[in-house]
Amino acid sequence: MKTKTIKSISSLKKIIKTIKLSNKSIGFVPTMGYLHEGHLSLIRASKKENDITIVSIYVNPTQFGANEDFNIYPRDYKRDYLLINQLNVNYLFYPNNEIMYPIGYSTFVDVDNYNKILEGEFRPTHFRGVTTIVAKLLNITQPTIMYLGQKDAQQAFILTKMCQDLNFDCKIKIMPIIRDENGLALSSRNVRLNKDDYQLALQLNKTLKLGKELFLKNHSITTDKLLNACQNYIKKFDKISVDYIACRSVKKFDEIPKITEKCYLLIAAKVGNVRLIDNIILG
Ligand code: AMP
Repeated sequence: MKTKTIKSISSLKKIIKTIKLSNKSIGFVPTMGYLHEGHLSLIRASKKENDITIVSIYVNPTQFGANEDFNIYPRDYKRDYLLINQLNVNYLFYPNNEIMYPIGYSTFVDVDNYNKILEGEFRPTHFRGVTTIVAKLLNITQPTIMYLGQKDAQQAFILTKMCQDLNFDCKIKIMPIIRDENGLALSSRNVRLNKDDYQLALQLNKTLKLGKELFLKNHSITTDKLLNACQNYIKKFDKISVDYIACRSVKKFDEIPKITEKCYLLIAAKVGNVRLIDNIILG
């Protein structure tokens, strides 16, 4: 069966109703499109574990700040459709702005505190947009499991918190980061890196690897020491502008003085005019 593209909320809701009546499980993969192997790994997991898989493609304007890259974010419906169809996805939800945010739209979802740190410090309205759109998508698709990538670790944490706090029924699975052959975390934004910037972008993952090596050599290293070493390494590259390098526990996303539990080592930096994020798990 070919993947069916659905553009209206009411049509998709009707379909969901019949799926629910037949007691089938629904896997949902929200994306902004321009799909790569990272997205496809989430879709494959959903296909494996659910009766029906729904992928959404929507470049959500409310999660971009005024000076961010909403207008130049890569988009290619035809290319994405072919990839999705090859994976036998059942439904592609492909709404437009008028449908998602009709004139007079005024309701927003915010996960306090966690939306202000790290990514939230540099993108103050970002998570409000993410939680709002995902809450809407969850209400429309009512999935059994939603698939998210560890690539956006803070986003995955915040969405998990939102689902707990607002009693959404779906489970969440966080899938590992898919990288290219040189270690760069795949991202739709990578197409905007020129040759030189691509080489520089590899330093993000190299910095995280250095942090991991230091931890593996000395498990009782303080987080401050580890972060300082990472900062000192990456600051040699003056064309990379680091927003933050940080360590946060996987469980609570809080700061920890020593790596006594599983935690993320996270980095965000601008390379040329492309802002990239990456992380690695320690402990
Ligand atoms: P995006 O289209 O960038 O909003 O991403 C949609 C989903 O794919 C999010 O849950 C991302 O975390 C996930 N994702 C993006 N890049 C990767 C990657 N390299 N590996 C695994 N998952 C990813």
